[in-house]
Amino acid sequence: MFVGQKVVENAALSTTASSNPSSGLAMNAAPDYASAVINALPFGVVCFDLADNGSVNVYSANLRAQSLFGFSDISTLPAPLSSLWASNEHEKLADKVRETLAKKQVVAFEWTARTDNGDHYLSSQLQPIVNAAGDQRLVLCTIEDQTTEKLAEKNIMHHAFHDALTGQPNRVLFRNKLEETVINGKNGSDPFSCAVLVVNIDRFQLINESFGHSAGDRFLISMASTLRRCIGSQDILARLSGDEFAILVPNMREIKAATDICDRIHTAMKQPYDLDGNEVFTSVSIGVASTISSATHPEDLIRDADFAMHRAKIAGKACTEVYRRESHMEARSLFHLETELRRAVEREDLQLYYQPIIDLRTSKLHGFEALTRWQHKDHGFVSPVEFIQLAEETGIIVPLGRWAIEASCTCLKHWIMEVGVDKVVPINVNVSGVQFARDDVAAVVENALKKYNLPGSLLRIELTESSIMTNPEHISNSLDRIRALGVKVALDDFGTGYSSLNYLHQFPIDIIKIDRAFISQLKRGNTQFKILEMIGMLAKSLGHEIVAEGLEDTDHIDMVTEMGFAYAQGFYYSRPVAGVDAAKMVRGDLPWA
Ligand code: C2E
Ligand code: MG
Ligand code: MG
Repeated sequence: MFVGQKVVENAALSTTASSNPSSGLAMNAAPDYASAVINALPFGVVCFDLADNGSVNVYSANLRAQSLFGFSDISTLPAPLSSLWASNEHEKLADKVRETLAKKQVVAFEWTARTDNGDHYLSSQLQPIVNAAGDQRLVLCTIEDQTTEKLAEKNIMHHAFHDALTGQPNRVLFRNKLEETVINGKNGSDPFSCAVLVVNIDRFQLINESFGHSAGDRFLISMASTLRRCIGSQDILARLSGDEFAILVPNMREIKAATDICDRIHTAMKQPYDLDGNEVFTSVSIGVASTISSATHPEDLIRDADFAMHRAKIAGKACTEVYRRESHMEARSLFHLETELRRAVEREDLQLYYQPIIDLRTSKLHGFEALTRWQHKDHGFVSPVEFIQLAEETGIIVPLGRWAIEASCTCLKHWIMEVGVDKVVPINVNVSGVQFARDDVAAVVENALKKYNLPGSLLRIELTESSIMTNPEHISNSLDRIRALGVKVALDDFGTGYSSLNYLHQFPIDIIKIDRAFISQLKRGNTQFKILEMIGMLAKSLGHEIVAEGLEDTDHIDMVTEMGFAYAQGFYYSRPVAGVDAAKMVRGDLPWA
């Protein structure tokens, strides 16, 4: 290489110009070997000189340079660059030659030369050369063709910003475009708004599972073209992830512009898609967030559109939801509550309160129902009616339910130590249907009894009719195992749900608890009264105990006593009380009524 450069220098420094067609090197007289070496170089070498009139002449050019520029006629050199090169690019190069001579130093630059063979991405270095006479009019220019590398780089860039399957922009590019749109919009003089649509395919997993992943891929490609047909030329479609696309509506006057696109998409989705001869119908759920109703930060817009899309799913899919700040606040505070509840269960910040269950025939304490209480530092007392549902939805019910069983057993153990096992009354613990589905409740009960060395007769499990309905077979199985431990099972809230009398004899239960909603409507001779009488008789014939819940006055007590009910629970006797007071009741130090 070094030798080659020397040759170039020598060649370039010669002053008598003539062409040398036999070697193919268009340059002044030079030894043949030098021409051969210069022509063999993998980069272009051109020697320029500056004419007195300021025009730039090509003094010599090797074969690579000739082919790169597509020089037309090199038979007579030197010749003006503009006459050799038809392209308009020559002025750009000529300026650089002048700049090199003016600065008297090396000038390097990258540029794109448009030739008949397409665009060439070139990297050039221009070096001023002083000839033997001390003239400084010559410039040696090397030109490296970096087209292949540049195209590869472009290709890599394309892949970095585009989804390989659909060819659409990916999340990164979408975010960049959105950011650009928001910044330009904010700097513009007109009032501006833009919208982000998050489009999620409903039940896409089913397509993958039924027809295979390559069919799923084909479906996604067709989905991208369906979406493209529904948007305007200014709008940008991107694929965010597996079955999720996003659309940027960059400039709109009102939200209707965005919802119109959504309507077009829902209509287009009504057409069946042909997947290997099968007609596939599917739908999409769309969330819309705009700078009108949402934040203006790009990441927030995508997040809010995503949130709205999830609400569309909850609303039954195949629809559009426009982001509303209020619903986000609700979800956020619910999320906050969930986090706090999780923490409360972990730290055992919950307490059990105990409501006495009375034997109506003897007026003695028959047992307690354990009811969970959450004393929240900011919200005060949070009703179990609120947090049990949240716990069920989030799965927190499993550790919560385990804790309630364990805490009841701890309490029983203390009572036994205080008054002896014979004087202790049983505790009923509520167990949710969700816990039956997700946990081995029978094993939890068995372990707790073992741990505290308790007879099964001191613990009772309450579960509601509606929770049985979710998976009757599984629950029935668990209840058999629970009863085998000597633990009685109560059917809670009877009369509120399906009230199927079938359950009374089909299900492994020992006790029926009549819901207070039923009791509160009770009047002598009315329908509720007659139904309850009948349930009482049926329960008795099946050998079940009955507990009437929610007794608030003497009328209630008289009626259920008349019906022959044995047990009762309600504010008339006592509200749920803290553990210390329940212990006093067990000891007989505190009357329960
Ligand atoms: P539940 O099992 O039917 O419990 C009886 C509910 O009725 C209790 O409400 C009790 O305070 C209330 N109650 C009792 N007598 C009367 C009365 O005379 N009048 C009125 N107005 N109410 C009365 P609480 O403690 O708010 O519990 C509500 C529900 O939350 C419970 O209904 C139960 O389903 C659930 N729950 C409470 N603790 C737990 C728990 O640890 N685990 C599970 N899975 N559920 C629980
Ligand atoms: Mg209960
Ligand atoms: Mg109940």
